Amino acid sequence: MNTDKLSARLATVASYVSEGLRIADIGSDHAYLPCHLVKKGVVPFAIAGEVAEGPYQSARKQVRLEGLSEQIIVRKGDGLEVVQPGEVDCITIAGMGGALIANILEAGKDKLKNVKKLVLQPNVGASAIREWLIENNWKLTAENILKEDGKIYEVLVAEIGNPEEPYGNRHELEILFGPYLLKEKNEAFKEKWGLEKQNWERILNQLEKADLNEATQSKKTEVIEKIKMAEEVLS
Ligand code: SAM
Repeated sequence: MNTDKLSARLATVASYVSEGLRIADIGSDHAYLPCHLVKKGVVPFAIAGEVAEGPYQSARKQVRLEGLSEQIIVRKGDGLEVVQPGEVDCITIAGMGGALIANILEAGKDKLKNVKKLVLQPNVGASAIREWLIENNWKLTAENILKEDGKIYEVLVAEIGNPEEPYGNRHELEILFGPYLLKEKNEAFKEKWGLEKQNWERILNQLEKADLNEATQSKKTEVIEKIKMAEEVLS
C-alpha cells in the first residue's frame, strides 16, 4: 500500500469522502488516507491526528515526503482535540474498534457542530457506533462490508439527519448487523456472521459447563439471543 494505491479497506473509506470537504483523519498513523485524498484533488485540506508518538512521526514524515505540508497539518493529540470547531467538514476514523471510535466522537462532541459527514471504519463492534449515531442525531446514510487479507471490515457513513430513518421495526437486529448491510447480505457479511455465530456457540457451550449464577445466566440469555438473530439473518 502507498498513497497512490490504498488498501481496499482504506480505498473504501476514501470513496465516501465527498469532493471539496475539509477532513480530519483521526488515528491517521502514516497519514496515507489524507495524503491520498489531497493528492487526488478530492479534498483541499486535511488534518492528520495521532495520539501516539511513533505514528505521529510517521505521519509527519509521509506528509513532508509527499510535499503536502501546505495542505495537510499533522497534529498530535487524543481524538478530536486536534480539531478546532469549524475547521473541517468531514471526520474519518479508521482501523480501530467501534467502542473506541464511539468514545472519540462522544469526547469530542463540541468539535462536531459544523461537521457534515462522518466516515467510520470499525474493525469490530460497529453496533457501538450505530448506537452513538442514533443518540446523537446522526443519520446512517451508507454502510459497506469487505474482506481483505483474510479480515472483514465494516465502513459506516453518517450525515446530519433523522437518525431513525434507516431503521425499521427490528431495532436490535438492525443495530447489530447494520440496516443497509442486512438488505444486501453480501459474501463478506455472510462470512463474518457465520464466524461470529460459531464463536457465540463456543461461548454458550462453555457457559453451559460453568456454575449457574446470575452473571452466567444473563450472559447465556444474551448469547442465545445473538445466536438466534444470526440464524435468522443467515437463513
Ligand atoms: N487510520 C489508519 C488506518 O486505518 O490504516 C491507522 C489505523 S491504526 C490501526 C490506529 C491508529 O489510531 C494508531 O496509530 C493509534 O495510535 C491511533 N489512535 C488510537 N486511539 C487514538 C486516539 N484516541 N486519538 C488519536 N489516535 C488514536
